[in-house]
Formats: sequence, C-alpha cells, structure tokens
Amino acid sequence: MSDFLLQLSGNARARQLVKSLGLPLPMPQVLRRARGPYEERPLRDRTLLIGGGLIGELAESLARSVIEAGADVVIEGGTGAFEAPAEAWGRPLRAADDLTEGERVDGMLYDASHVRDVLGLRGLYEFFHPHVRRLAPCSRVVIVTRPPDEAQAVEVGAVRQAVEGFVRSLAKEVGRRGSTVQLLRVESGAENRLDGPLRFFLSDRSAYVTGQPLRISRAAGGTAQSTRTRVLDGKIALVTGAARGIGAATVELLAAEGAKVVCLDRPDDDELASRIAQKNDGVVLLQDVTEPGANKSIADALNVLGGVDIVVHNAGVTRDKTLAKMTDAQWDLAIDVNLTAIIRITRELVWRDVLRDGGRVICLSSVAGLAGNMGQTNYAASKAGVVGYVRAMALELADRSITVNAIAPGFIETRLTDAMPAMIREVARRLSALGQGGRPEDVGQAITFLASPGAAGVTGEVLRICGGAFVGS
Ligand code: NAD
Repeated sequence: MSDFLLQLSGNARARQLVKSLGLPLPMPQVLRRARGPYEERPLRDRTLLIGGGLIGELAESLARSVIEAGADVVIEGGTGAFEAPAEAWGRPLRAADDLTEGERVDGMLYDASHVRDVLGLRGLYEFFHPHVRRLAPCSRVVIVTRPPDEAQAVEVGAVRQAVEGFVRSLAKEVGRRGSTVQLLRVESGAENRLDGPLRFFLSDRSAYVTGQPLRISRAAGGTAQSTRTRVLDGKIALVTGAARGIGAATVELLAAEGAKVVCLDRPDDDELASRIAQKNDGVVLLQDVTEPGANKSIADALNVLGGVDIVVHNAGVTRDKTLAKMTDAQWDLAIDVNLTAIIRITRELVWRDVLRDGGRVICLSSVAGLAGNMGQTNYAASKAGVVGYVRAMALELADRSITVNAIAPGFIETRLTDAMPAMIREVARRLSALGQGGRPEDVGQAITFLASPGAAGVTGEVLRICGGAFVGS
C-alpha cells in the first residue's frame, strides 16, 4: 500500500505548494537508504561532528572506527585520540570552531562514557544545543556511554540512565527531518566490539531505527573483527517465511553479503519461495514450521549443507480478535507459528549441533509484543515470549559464541499492515518520530547487521525497527 503523503513529500514542487498554502499536512522526509552491499568506507563524504571531550576510555575505538569508515571529522575540543588514525589514513581533522555559520553536518557522535555527575551531563546540552540545527536531513546521531548497571556510584548510574531520556527525546525532535539518534552502551572490556554497531548506526543502513538503546557486551565470545565487505561470505543462513515481505528482503540482503540462504516457506508458497531462492542463488525448503516433525526435517536439510551459521526466525502470523471473541484456533495458531516453532526448531538445531559455533539466531518479535495492542492478546503474548526467549537463550549459548537477539518491527509496509483498516493504518504510520512506515529492507538491514561478525558484542538484545514509534518502551 503506497503512502500518499510520503510520495507528495518526495516531490519538491508539491512540498512547496503545501508549505505556501499552509496546509496542516504532515510531510514526512523521504529517507535516504543504503543501496547495494556493504562498503569499505560507508561514511565517505559524510561530515561527522564529534564531541564529548574525547577523554573517555572509548575515545580510541571511536576514533579508529570513524576514520576508517571514511568520515570527514570535525571535532569540538582536543583532537587527542583522533590524531594517530587520522595521520595513518591521511585524513584531515577540522576543529568545530572552523565550521561556518549555517554549515551542515551529516551526523554527530558524542562520547558520554566519562560522564560521572550531573555537571558532566550538562556537557550533552552544551554540545548539542548550539549545533543541533546543523544536522542535515537524514543525519545520524550516536551517543556512547557505559551501562548504568556497571556504575560504582549512585550518581554515575543516574546520569548514565539520564542519557537514555536525552536520546529518546532528541530522536523525536529530529525525526521529522529523517534524522535518527541512538545510544550505545558499551560494557567494560567490550570496547573492541564497537566498530560494527557504529558503522551500522552511523550509516544509511539504519534509516528506520531511532531512539534505540543497545548494549555492546563481551558476553558471547568470538571476534568482532573481520572483513568490512562480503561480511557473510561462506556462511549458511536459514530464513523462515522467506517468500515475501520482511523475509524476502532479508534473503536478498544476506545473499548480497555472500551468504547461501535456505529460503523456507509453506508448501502453498512454492512458486514465490522458489523464485526468491533462485534469484539469490539460494535453496528452497518448503515446510510449514508448525507441522509435527518440522524441526527434524529442517535440521536434516541444513545438515546436508554442513550446518547453519545464521537462523532468522521470521515466519509469523496475526489472528487478531478481542479476547472474548477469540477462538481456540486463533490463539493456538499465533502462539504456535510465532513462538513454539522458534523454540522447537532452535532446540533441535542446538541439540544436534547443526547450529555452528559463532552462529547467530535472530527472532522476529514486534512492537506489539513490547507495548501490547487491542485485539492482539495472542500475537503480543507470542512476540513478548520471543523477547524472553532470546534473553534466556543468549545466556545459554554465549559460551559457544552464538548470539541470540530479537528484532521488534513497528509499522512495516507489507501485506500484514496492508490488511489493517485504512484509518488505523494511516494513524499507525504517522505516530512515530519519522512519521512514516518502514520498508521490509529496513528490517532486513538490521537482521543482516545482527548476522554479521561486527555484531559479536550484541546478544540478548531487542532492537526496535519502528521509526521511533510513539508506543512501546
Ligand atoms: P508476511 O505475511 O508478509 O510474511 C510472513 C511469511 O511467513 C509469509 O511468507 C508466510 O507464508 C510465512 N509463514 C507464515 N506461517 C508459516 C508457517 N506456519 N510455516 C512457514 N512459513 C510461514 O509478514 P511480514 O510483515 O513480512 O512479517 C514477518 C515477521 O515480522 C513476522 O514474524 C511478523 O510478525 C513480524 N512483524 C511484522 C511487522 C509489520 O509491520 N509488517 C511488524 C511487527 C512484526
């Protein structure tokens, strides 16, 4: 279903007309999205304003990542940690004082890891207040801090948590222009795992993610360092529900990074699933995930390929009805497809050692599972169950360097949301910081990031791909 306002907004003359007539129409920004496979230097030609004093323990990792990703760096405060990588890569460094009036930047990176008290917290205000208007449309803002639960003193914990409120609010302020704001909480000892998340959140691959806190941990072993392009070369991936929507977009993105993808969908969807598999040099697997014995057949098929590295549990259904009107079959099917099948299939893959060490399990949850939704007690229960599942499994599989995460999409333009009543669909699209629905590839990009070696530090997390939806936590 096309978004009329977004199309209108993409037309400069129409936008001007709406503005000059003073029409009360929300005009969402057409988002700039990444095209093609991963690049060595995703921030090439992007100006990044850096702040936070650069005295924190993370400064070195941040400096190396940003310079190696190709950004043009402008620094407020001393150049410190940036000097060595800038020299090694022959990159110039500019001081923020040299920015001309009205000069725009494409992103901002702030290191708040050294903030220990409310006075330090004021540094956020002092940095962003004079510069926030410099953000060009579709900019990226990332703030980095330490997890509040690692704080040794009460005030430190308080101010680390305060940064989350700042991030969520700023995301709402800049979202109308297509810009995004994220918070990365880096555990001590996980500094060398920042590069992958930074590349994702500072680049156009995270166009529909905003207001998100994400923990970078050392929980799962394995190395986060790898090549920066063709990041999934030689990997085998399973995507369930691959025939259309988010699943189909994910297959394309995983395959573009070099993965061999097993495209699973129901036998009824043979034609669509086979087409996706063929187009992406993958393998089709026709299987209803709820059928007795499905777990065994899936494990057998993957075993033939020598095992699996990436499992994307994407197949999902809604069976909406208010609780009083919900039938047994509606309750059972939503729970069975969205939760039970995930538990059963993963158990079989782990138990039979089909899931390889260093693997990735990515499960589709939903913002409805975090916030609840009218008429979706079954669906929300299943999707909240997914969140509990990934948290528990992340702990269980950490010693095999396997990460387990959930993705919680908000409003994504697929047949699932096409089926909504028109008015509700329109409201759901607009009630977010970015003021529009996401695309299947926005979710696929996040899945591909979590599947990549660069996301070794992300496990047991729930990443919302919701454009900063106003509902949910
Ligand atoms: P979709 O309906 O377009 O695709 C889902 C796919 O899953 C279909 O190809 C379907 O055939 C397959 N599937 C369903 N039951 C199956 C079964 N028993 N066995 C095998 N395959 C089965 O949906 P989508 O919008 O692409 O959603 C993908 C996932 O994202 C789902 O888990 C959904 O709950 C979740 N999600 C979507 C949105 C959204 O806005 N579209 C929001 C939140 C969460």
